[in-house]
Amino acid sequence: MKVGILGAGQLARMLALAGIPRGIHFVFYDPNTESCAAELGTFICGEYDDYKKLNAFASQVDVVTVESENIPVETLKYLQESVTVHPNPDAVGTSQDRLLEKSLFKTLKIPTPEFYAIDSAEQLVQVANKHSDTLVIKTRRFGYDGKGQAMLTKPEQAKEVWYDLGARPLIAEQFMSFSREVSLISVRDQGGSIRYYPLIQNLHKNGILVKSQTRLNDPLQSLAEGHAEKMLSELNYVGVLVFEFFVCNEVLVANEIAPRVHNSGHWTIEGAATSQFENHLRAILNIPLGATNTLSDCTMYNLVGSMPDSKTIMNLENVRLHDYGKSPREGRKLGHITLCDPTPEILAAVESAITQ
Ligand code: AMP
Repeated sequence: MKVGILGAGQLARMLALAGIPRGIHFVFYDPNTESCAAELGTFICGEYDDYKKLNAFASQVDVVTVESENIPVETLKYLQESVTVHPNPDAVGTSQDRLLEKSLFKTLKIPTPEFYAIDSAEQLVQVANKHSDTLVIKTRRFGYDGKGQAMLTKPEQAKEVWYDLGARPLIAEQFMSFSREVSLISVRDQGGSIRYYPLIQNLHKNGILVKSQTRLNDPLQSLAEGHAEKMLSELNYVGVLVFEFFVCNEVLVANEIAPRVHNSGHWTIEGAATSQFENHLRAILNIPLGATNTLSDCTMYNLVGSMPDSKTIMNLENVRLHDYGKSPREGRKLGHITLCDPTPEILAAVESAITQ
């Protein structure tokens, strides 16, 4: 079996690392010549509107999937004419646009922050004047890891924020004062069966995920699953879909969905019966889904900007270091560490090693 992945970064790399032992071959497609998944299969370097290269890609694979929500919908629809694409292009399209995404939460009666569509500086001034609390302003499209975002605390800042964010369609969201952030990883197969992983508690710094911890037996689990089930059915979704929620007064408020495997699920490689990566492959290849129960309580740290001394890390018990083989750059995700059933001492030792 051959899987084509649009995008060849670390998520594509971890999908391949899960699939290769199962005899699955991979073809990666990415405009970026420096792509860390490339060494694990055939690599085609091309733009997403290079139809000649896309034809060559489609002709080599049985199914196409994505490692990023920012692949143009036109590319997915074009590929769909000659090869199966999972998740479907409309589902990816919904998650690309924060306004469509939040509107769908509302339609499905999934709580989400109050929001306003903004198409001009004047509109942003009007909304800021009307809304006395802080607003989070985000670009509707192509925002990730806190990029394309600004806080608006005073209406006088509205014009500046409009231009700082590139004078393009925005969404203004009510600022949520949450007690914690959690994510739910779900996976739906081609027959409509769904499996869920336990909720994960996430810590972000400057919009970038830095730490994820499994939340076994979280009382909000079944509420989260109910929200995800509605969304998966509505989108007729196949593969892994991830929900990110704010927890406000023990109510789940949906922030966004990701139509792909997710950073907060990296711990499933060592900590779950079947990893999110393997289950995504199973779903898109029409293989029965694997069990999602946890084998241990896990904590995952992202390694952002620089890698810690590997000898210090490898000296610690039950610590798994993942290095994506990328060249260091500020704000770039270079690897991660998963700790299984960590003691407070091991957690402290890892935190100290990665902050040095
Ligand atoms: P996002 O790109 O939407 O995932 O946002 C990145 C991070 O910014 C989130 O994980 C939150 O920590 C914070 N954030 C985003 N939207 C809001 C909001 N409406 N209220 C409070 N914090 C937010």
